[in-house]
Amino acid sequence: MSQFTELKREAYEANVALPKHGLINLTFGNASVVDRARAVFAIKPSGVDYAALTPNDMVVVDLEGRTVEGALRPSSDTPTHRKLFLAFGSIGGVVHTHSSHATAFAQAGLPIPIFGTTHADYFNGEVPVTRKMTAAEIAGAYEWETGNVIVERFAAIDPADFPGVLVNRHAPFAWGPSVAKAVETAVAMECIADMALMSLTLAPKLGPIEPELLAKHFRRKHGAGAYYGQTR
Ligand SMILES: [Zn+2]
Repeated sequence: MSQFTELKREAYEANVALPKHGLINLTFGNASVVDRARAVFAIKPSGVDYAALTPNDMVVVDLEGRTVEGALRPSSDTPTHRKLFLAFGSIGGVVHTHSSHATAFAQAGLPIPIFGTTHADYFNGEVPVTRKMTAAEIAGAYEWETGNVIVERFAAIDPADFPGVLVNRHAPFAWGPSVAKAVETAVAMECIADMALMSLTLAPKLGPIEPELLAKHFRRKHGAGAYYGQTR
């Protein structure tokens, strides 16, 4: 019996949720969950079809990047996840997809503008986009450098207020206090990207949501004054 059974099960559940939500084509995308006390995270193995995945296929990697448990190679995006867990100390899970509408904004190098309350329920403003990566970063430790450009973008931003990002020319990453919450945010990012494109079709000059409406929606779900949902 593995000491990481529960961690691997949580990672597995998050990974198989991604195609169920329509966020995944082929094998693009991955989810991971961190155990801060043991300084390890569990992540999807590289290139394995979602239909064939089992909880035991999840690979456990430590925060130094060494595989601790697992017969398969971890996802090629593992260094990006590791960088985010190291830089954002409050997050418990990371999700990466190539969901079409969010990826359309990423490829265009554009943030997702904040037009409505659906968006404001998740993000305290537009969904940020990273700068383009340099040729040296792409030729070097590419996946680790992908994490670096994300962290650079968040130099003056709280990752709890903006629980996701678009990597320029690439695709979205989402995170949250748990990996289940990161999956939910990844679904939300795809929805709000889709809706933003439709809003722009209808009203090409549409401006951002009014600040008081943004604050109302974001703050009723986040922070000290939150009152949305059930208390436990
Ligand atoms: Zn990717």
